[in-house]
Amino acid sequence: MFDPRNQLNPGKIATPAADIPLLKIDQVPTRGQTDRKIPVQVWENYQEAVHCNGNGLCYNWNPNDAMCPSWKATRERTHSPKGRASLMREWLKQLSDRGINPLDESQKVKHASFVLGLPGRISNTLKKRRGEYDFSHQVNESMQACLACKSCVGQCPIKVDVPEFRAKFLELYYGRYLRPVKDYFVGSLETLLPWLAKAPWLYNTLMKPQWVQKLMARYVGMVDSPLLTGISLHQAAKKLSIPYASLETIAKLSADEKSRAVILVQDAFTSYFETQVVIDILTALKKLNFVPLLAPFKPNGKALHVHGFLNAFAKAADVNATYLNGLASAKIPMIGVDPAMTLTYRFEYKKILGDTAPQVLLIQEWLAKQSVHLQQFSSKIKADEFTLLAHCTEKTNALSSIKEWQQIFSALGNKLSVVETGCCGMSGTFGHEAANLETSKTIFALSWQKIVQNPANANRLTATGYSCRSQVKRFEKRELPHPLQILLRQLSE
Ligand code: SF4
Ligand code: SF4
Repeated sequence: MFDPRNQLNPGKIATPAADIPLLKIDQVPTRGQTDRKIPVQVWENYQEAVHCNGNGLCYNWNPNDAMCPSWKATRERTHSPKGRASLMREWLKQLSDRGINPLDESQKVKHASFVLGLPGRISNTLKKRRGEYDFSHQVNESMQACLACKSCVGQCPIKVDVPEFRAKFLELYYGRYLRPVKDYFVGSLETLLPWLAKAPWLYNTLMKPQWVQKLMARYVGMVDSPLLTGISLHQAAKKLSIPYASLETIAKLSADEKSRAVILVQDAFTSYFETQVVIDILTALKKLNFVPLLAPFKPNGKALHVHGFLNAFAKAADVNATYLNGLASAKIPMIGVDPAMTLTYRFEYKKILGDTAPQVLLIQEWLAKQSVHLQQFSSKIKADEFTLLAHCTEKTNALSSIKEWQQIFSALGNKLSVVETGCCGMSGTFGHEAANLETSKTIFALSWQKIVQNPANANRLTATGYSCRSQVKRFEKRELPHPLQILLRQLSE
């Protein structure tokens, strides 16, 4: 029997039983007929979902390709970019069938009082627990399994952007239902960290015990939460004579110093959970005869965007952009440490701020342009061979930036190979969410684990992403250096 489950163009080519009629080609409803029910204005505002043409390129099976880790880990079509785009179109259609405009709803959610909306959210959540049907729950289930890694954005030929429409969906979904506690924990982390870092011993003492980790997993929904390093970046920068970036400190630089100056824009994860990486990057830049300045920490807001706190994200982006744009008037390049956090400035920020989004480069995008300057140090180091494990968001959305690391290493006489990898399975805080732990482990085992465990790679690997390094640390108990930490080691030998 050809097509016994009636899966291939159901009813169009063959039917599994004689009593199921074969439809004429023009009797089968087309996608356009249902999509047309979505109002034009809504269509335009959700174009990152509705333009999926269904070509299926995102059903990628190569474990060493970044495209859609959630699809690879589950093999469930609803956990692929195409599946998520289809669910969104159906959701938008169902909303329009009920006369609900998601754009108006988004405005209402943004301006609603948290407290006054609580009774409605509690009531809806109780109905959900009683099993009352809402198609949104199916959409939510699919969105929760998305890592927001942005590989679809870079690799889909139509640029279907799941993290963008996922954030819009979550904003509306949690306007009607109660949010899990973990969302508030993750969303507020960037704001809380500078305060927690004032007494790192207190935070670490509270978080370290096994029984606290168990309570966190059960009641907050977070596992293996990282501990604060307890290292003061402020003190370390002072010791290195690296000033905070401000128009006043920049004005004190000589013309020569200004020509070698670069501003390092902090992100919460590396500054508080991997402080030594930031210090080593600053030290390496000094040893390479640049003049680094440190931008005071301001929340970037990426975690808020990922979880659909779009109003709070817009506010954080506005404050941060105003500050960074003020510094930009000094015409000194700005670079960010973590690729995913840095690329937020050119994607998520750009979507809401347009041309006023601050220009923050990936380290390698700036450093590769200094190749001639770097070459003078090549005779001072013992060249070697290394292997780069790049971050998914970076290699799929800033393609040339991987080659730029190779140019930098080559300018210093080193050889840097790039190993093809899939996702590491961490992606921000995805892997730290208790509900995602098994998926995160599965994704890590698909690609990264074998590469990290390969004895031929011992002491050669370097990783650009904070998430990737922390995933290797928790599953393999190994610390992979950032590429600039390797160069610092060479410059210090
Ligand atoms: S690759 Fe993009 S356009 Fe093609 S099916 Fe997947 S999401 Fe849709
Ligand atoms: S963001 Fe990543 S996990 Fe989510 S749909 Fe896109 S590729 Fe898949």
